[in-house]
Amino acid sequence: MSTTRRDLLTAALTAAGAAAASDLAGGEEHDHHDNHDHQVVPSDPTLRVKALESLMVAKGLVDRATLDAVIDMFEHKVGPHIGARVVARAWADGTYKERLLKDARAALAELGYGYVSEGELVVVENTPKVHNLVVCTLCSCYPWSVLGLPPLWYKSAAYRARSVIDPRGVLREFGLELSEDTEVRVWDSTAYQRYLVLPQRPTGTGSMKEEELATLVTRDAMVGVARVTAGRRGSER
Ligand code: FE
Repeated sequence: MSTTRRDLLTAALTAAGAAAASDLAGGEEHDHHDNHDHQVVPSDPTLRVKALESLMVAKGLVDRATLDAVIDMFEHKVGPHIGARVVARAWADGTYKERLLKDARAALAELGYGYVSEGELVVVENTPKVHNLVVCTLCSCYPWSVLGLPPLWYKSAAYRARSVIDPRGVLREFGLELSEDTEVRVWDSTAYQRYLVLPQRPTGTGSMKEEELATLVTRDAMVGVARVTAGRRGSER
């Protein structure tokens, strides 16, 4: 954001705050003493969000209770634990896996999960010969219904550009070295079609129950930048 835009937002919020203070004081000038801590001006994205929220509430386009519900959903309800449960079921039940690959939305509904998004979700399966990697080269489209909010690196210009130019190099930087005879398929997400990787089930997990299998499945593995391993749980960045 340019300095000018930041200054505009800061000024707008400061003016809004001053107006509110004036209202509280019955319209009289606020008697200002410098004996309290001044709040540090928030970051650019925070300022932008606050400005947008204030405008939308003021214009009656949304209400605060709805906004709180949306924030609560992203903070507490959706997340990679949902994708992990879906993956674990697919590992444990071959017929479920077939249904998942064919119609992900219906397969999610079987487990009681909604795919609350415009467009479709496509599940792509890793095999010993094929490794799938998901990116959104345009912006940051991501299957948040099953993975929650995307990590910062997913939205970075470097990941978005380099994943399609040099996927093996990007995967190497994530610590995933693929053999030359493994085909890498890169899937470019859009608002209309997003992707979830079904990772390979790690060896040595034959006796594990579905709930335990789910604890092994990481967000990174479901984006395709990591494998699932039997001994490591939830390693993310
Ligand atoms: Fe996008």
